[in-house]
Amino acid sequence: MGSRRRPILKADICKDAAISFDERPFEKGRGEIHPVWSGDLFAKYTDRPLEMQQRIWVDTKGLPRIFYAPEREEITTETEQSEAVPRPAFLFHDSFLLHTPPQGHPERPDRLKALIRTFRASDLWTEMDHIGPVPCEEKHLLLCHTENHCSFIRRTCESGGGLLDGGDTHCVEASYEAATRAVGAVTGAVDAVAGNGAPFAFCAVRPPGHHAERDQPMGFCLFNNAAIGARYAQKHHGVGKVAILDWDVHHGNGTQHIFEEDPTVMYISLHQFPFYPGTGAAKETGKGDGRGFTLNIPLPAGSSEEAYLKAFNRMVIPALERFHADLLILSAGFDAHVRDPLGEMMLTEQSFARMTSLVMHGAPIVSVLEGGYDLDALSRSAEAHVRTLLQRSDPVA
Ligand SMILES: [Zn+2]
Repeated sequence: MGSRRRPILKADICKDAAISFDERPFEKGRGEIHPVWSGDLFAKYTDRPLEMQQRIWVDTKGLPRIFYAPEREEITTETEQSEAVPRPAFLFHDSFLLHTPPQGHPERPDRLKALIRTFRASDLWTEMDHIGPVPCEEKHLLLCHTENHCSFIRRTCESGGGLLDGGDTHCVEASYEAATRAVGAVTGAVDAVAGNGAPFAFCAVRPPGHHAERDQPMGFCLFNNAAIGARYAQKHHGVGKVAILDWDVHHGNGTQHIFEEDPTVMYISLHQFPFYPGTGAAKETGKGDGRGFTLNIPLPAGSSEEAYLKAFNRMVIPALERFHADLLILSAGFDAHVRDPLGEMMLTEQSFARMTSLVMHGAPIVSVLEGGYDLDALSRSAEAHVRTLLQRSDPVA
């Protein structure tokens, strides 16, 4: 079994159960977590006896799915340590509010103010450990960006800010701290999940990241927060395979390009297409050794929850199961919400909860905020997303 020092949850699926996964219609509600007594169910599908740290989740159609709880020592070693069972982490810092693009810009501090207000007023707030992220080190930026890129952004901020690309990506002096703390939030979230066994972590960050290329700020993004998180997990926690699932309404061109030749990081994106930034056609599947490890699911404007869930069941979930990641990073944008002023999709906050529930029983999750420009829709969708994630504390119970 896995190393005791790295309490990564590993998802698995019974071979027999997998065959009908594609056809499985989505139903409201979640499966149930069955305790160890359902070992006979496990034995029915495999020749192996159920191991101590395995638990069975039975989905809504009664198909058993197996996942691994942390090593027992991690769960309840000594009674005096039982209070130290890790809790989910929520990462936010006030400096994110000081990154202030020009008046009228959709990617504005009010986004996070509204989100934090919603979370603070909710029962979720006390269910999580709150971590104030520190700015990341420059070497962490260099995991995914060139020196040129880092110094260009630092110098532009230091000189009072300005336009960073030919479009609409701005910075002010305080943006450098905000952007490096946003990266620090994601590396901190990886520390919490991959290092300390937190069941998941949510990073309420801005500026967003998924459009940032190795050598180019773009689409409101300065540094690629999620991409750096993936590399950081590999370099600093020995995590082998990382899947990045991006359901922001825009394609994450930066993330795709950073990992397109790398078979150890799978990038999966559902996005409106054709749309900004123009990349993300289905035929873009990776390059060289990374061929087959990029999955683009372009969807037409006006796509409904049904289209998303169908794509999840037919493509996203099977791809995640085949890849069998040790860590799942969500590029969680909420701009595919029907009320979003930029996106033209038809999702609701419940749609984000449903998509979350479909991926949360596999690898541990670091969720990173990307877009979402209607304040109410953003706040309520993020809350529904985190509320769903919180339902997964059961394996360690
Ligand atoms: Zn977006």
